[in-house]
Amino acid sequence: MESLPTVLLKPGEADRIVAGHPWIYQSSILRMTAQAGDGELVQVKDHRQRLLGIGFFNSKSRIHVRLLSSERVPVNAEFFEQRIRQALAVRRKYLPNATSFRVVNAESDFLSGLIVDKYDDVLVLQISSLGMEKRKETIVGVLQRIFAPRAIIERSDVGSRKFEGMSESNGVLAGECEGPVTIDLNGLKFETNLVEGHKTGLYLDQQVNYRAVSQFAEGAQVLDCFCFLGGFGLHAARSGAAHVHFLDQSEEAIAAARRNAEANGLAAQCSFEAINAFDWLKARTRSGPNEKVIPCFDLIILDPPSFTRTRASVPDALRGYKEIHLRALKLLRPGGILATFCCSHHVNAGLFQDTVLSAAYDARKILRRVAIYSQSPDHPIIPMIPETEYLKGFAFELVR
Ligand code: SAH
Repeated sequence: MESLPTVLLKPGEADRIVAGHPWIYQSSILRMTAQAGDGELVQVKDHRQRLLGIGFFNSKSRIHVRLLSSERVPVNAEFFEQRIRQALAVRRKYLPNATSFRVVNAESDFLSGLIVDKYDDVLVLQISSLGMEKRKETIVGVLQRIFAPRAIIERSDVGSRKFEGMSESNGVLAGECEGPVTIDLNGLKFETNLVEGHKTGLYLDQQVNYRAVSQFAEGAQVLDCFCFLGGFGLHAARSGAAHVHFLDQSEEAIAAARRNAEANGLAAQCSFEAINAFDWLKARTRSGPNEKVIPCFDLIILDPPSFTRTRASVPDALRGYKEIHLRALKLLRPGGILATFCCSHHVNAGLFQDTVLSAAYDARKILRRVAIYSQSPDHPIIPMIPETEYLKGFAFELVR
């Protein structure tokens, strides 16, 4: 281990690392004592030669080193097994009854570049760093030992792989998995296609919020906007909603949401529409000079995709968020609930709430905030690593 190439940091650059952030940018590096291979281990020291830890090096990535450990430990099967078991223990503790959840969430579990989702007895692996890519076989072996899954599927089709000099990679790595997989979330069945499909599996990060939001559903007329496979709406239907209307622009998602409603015996109180939510909301809130929009919903869920991947596009994204909130508020009955989510890391909770309030102002509505939501605990937040926090949500009651 002593022979690892050493990355020396510039003065002042070590604090963030000591505080627990695992990324070392090229601009933080003073010099290296030896050439390091891309995807190989290096040790990192501050400018006074004090050890900060070891991690994977990649000269092709802006993140030159992804730290794995603050100590000089061998990064072998035992290392991965220990880390993955620690991550699993967190899920067992905070999501004790879940059978499907994210087992490893990269930086949140001190394994930068590795994501592992468990869909009942099938695991889905996503690798976004070269260091992890080079140890894929070891990781697959460890996952087999811990979970004995029916199959392990790779869905490394994330754009970020190109920043590490890698191409996309998909396929069944172990076992067999043909056709859709049906999983249980909070006692409801969801069918999802893990091998194909435009998105891997489900949005597991909403697992606890499905339950939380469904407390407002009894007897309600519900609108599930951006419904994907129907997570929010189906939980609402089970909790006694009078009716749920599901909207998503993807035909594929709407067809799956409909099948999920049928599989759970909830189809009778559900309707489905494949349409752009902006267009739908606009059409429903259009009014002539002396006409009023008639509010007709008691619970509206807005869970759009991230409208922004970069800081630069935040203003555009906020306009989009504001528009859907403005229109949704016009459709909400007094006393009704708007449950709204934002999954963009670049829009924090304060900015997100300001945007909702700005829509409420334009619509001349007064809101009472009745709940604050975050990502499910299988997507742990490590506050020293701000990138691990991205999902935020609120429930607002429409006062008038
Ligand atoms: N609420 C869902 C997750 C939503 S993800 C859940 O809990 O699983 C975002 C969804 O919005 C995707 O299914 C995507 O197809 C859909 N979508 C994206 N843009 C849209 C638009 N303009 N109108 C309607 N749906 C849209």
